[in-house]
This record gives sequence, structure tokens and C-alpha cells, in this order.
Amino acid sequence: MARTGIHSFVWSASSAQADLERTLANTKEAGFDLIEFSYLDPANVDIDRLAKRIADMELGVAISIGLPAEGDISSSDKAIANRGIDILNRTIALTRDLGGRKIGGILSAGHGLQTEAPSRDQWNRSAATLAEVAETAKAAGVTLNLEIVNRFESNLLNTAAQGLAFIADTGSDNIFLHLDTFHMNIEEADVGLAIRHAANKIGYVHIGESHRGYLGTGSIDFAAVFDALTAIGYADDLTFESFSSEIVDENLSRKTAIWRNLWTDNMDLARHARRFIALGLETARRKAELVAAVQKP
Ligand code: MN
Repeated sequence: MARTGIHSFVWSASSAQADLERTLANTKEAGFDLIEFSYLDPANVDIDRLAKRIADMELGVAISIGLPAEGDISSSDKAIANRGIDILNRTIALTRDLGGRKIGGILSAGHGLQTEAPSRDQWNRSAATLAEVAETAKAAGVTLNLEIVNRFESNLLNTAAQGLAFIADTGSDNIFLHLDTFHMNIEEADVGLAIRHAANKIGYVHIGESHRGYLGTGSIDFAAVFDALTAIGYADDLTFESFSSEIVDENLSRKTAIWRNLWTDNMDLARHARRFIALGLETARRKAELVAAVQKP
């Protein structure tokens, strides 16, 4: 079922219960069907209560993380790789307990600027580990969706084609691609063609502008994005992701280099994004209908 989601950092980077509940209320008020929580710390959260609130409000939930350098499953250091496996397993349990079915984000390696080239061993270690983690996830009713990010945030998977090859190497049927228009705009030769190429493995999508602010005010060709998603019949989650120095998360704001204030009014931003995505999808559908329409004289 197609759901339109919003990243929790549009609302707040806090894991305090009251802030999480306000995030749910804002998500609903702005017209979204799904909340993506990032870096939720289960130690600080009453998970059962939050799960009940999410269910009562009939919202979907997805969880995203980026593995830290000290929990990089592609590392040759066993202690570091094991810490990463532990983080993934805890994230699977959290997702299941919240009533979610998807984990997204940078799961294949540590998130952050790398200053060394990736190696085949790194790739193989990560693929073998994720194949096992994906079985744990499957037993919990959760899929792993590998976010393909730009070169400044990972050295392992930067294009959808690399992601497809990586998934094939895992041999898993529970691992999919998490594509993000912000990252694709940097790395893909053509965002629309890349979406079409990856069609049957796309499990989750982030809709973000080139500067991560208001949709349509940057350089991303969203008509091409919505046309491609419509052409492949993508009917799954599309989540709006935007960051501003207005909402700071110690960890993610640094790794994603959020230094500028792209917005201050998050409700206005969210409502705009909701309308933008709905209109983009509707327009793409109307175009597809027109090009297929035949009127015989
Ligand atoms: Mn993203």
C-alpha cells in the first residue's frame, strides 16, 4: 500500500516521550500516513506506549539508522563488526515492537565520510553479514532496505546499480534498496533511469531536495522522479526527508553536514511537502494516461 511518510527530524530529534507523541500528532496533522523515526533510543522510550499511540492514530512507522564507525559491519575488526550486528539486531526488535515492517538507512557500512577506497573484502564481509541479519529480520516480519548514499557519506554503495549487485551477492530475498532523491541527484547518471533500472528491488524511497529544504525549490527533477516511480508501478512508501539547522541531532547533523537554516516553520514545510508529493504523483499518473490514450477517428 502506498504510504506518504515524513522523517521525524522535521519535527524533533528528541527521544523524550512527550516530544515523540507531539511528533505523531504533527505527522497526522500535516496529512502524512507514516512516521520514520531515526536513531530512536529504546533506553529512553516507553516502546509499548509509543507503539499503541502509533496504532491508535493509524500511522505506519519505519525506522532508519546509519551504522556508526565503531559499529561498521564491513570492518575487518571483529569487535567493531559485532557491535554493528548488535545494533542491527536491536533495531530489528525495535521496529517489530513499534509495529513497523521496514528498516532503512545506511546498514551496509559505517555512515560518514571515508578517506580510503572500499575493498572487495569489505564488500564481501558486509554482504555475508547482512545475509544473516536479514534472516533475523525476516523472522521479525521486517525488511532491510539499504540506503544508497552519496560518496561523502559512504564509500561502499553510491549507486542503485551497486546496490542491486550487492543485494544479489547477499543471496537474500529480504533485502531491498532504499533510494533517496538527494543522494541520487549527486551520483546517478539519470535519476529516472536509475529508478527504472532498480524497479523490482526498491523497498523504500526518500524524497528530498538538493539542498534538503522545501521540495521544488532546488535542482532535483521531481517530474522525472515521479514519472519513473509511476512507470514502474511503485506503490510503496515515499518518505519526505528534510533537514535544517532548526532541528539539530548531534550525530546526524554533523554526518549530513547540516549547517544552514533551510526552514524554520516545520508545519508549513511538511504541509507543502505533502501537497507537492501528492500533486507530483497525480500529475505523473495523468501524463501516463495521456500517452497511453488512443482515440481512433
Ligand atoms: Mn535519506
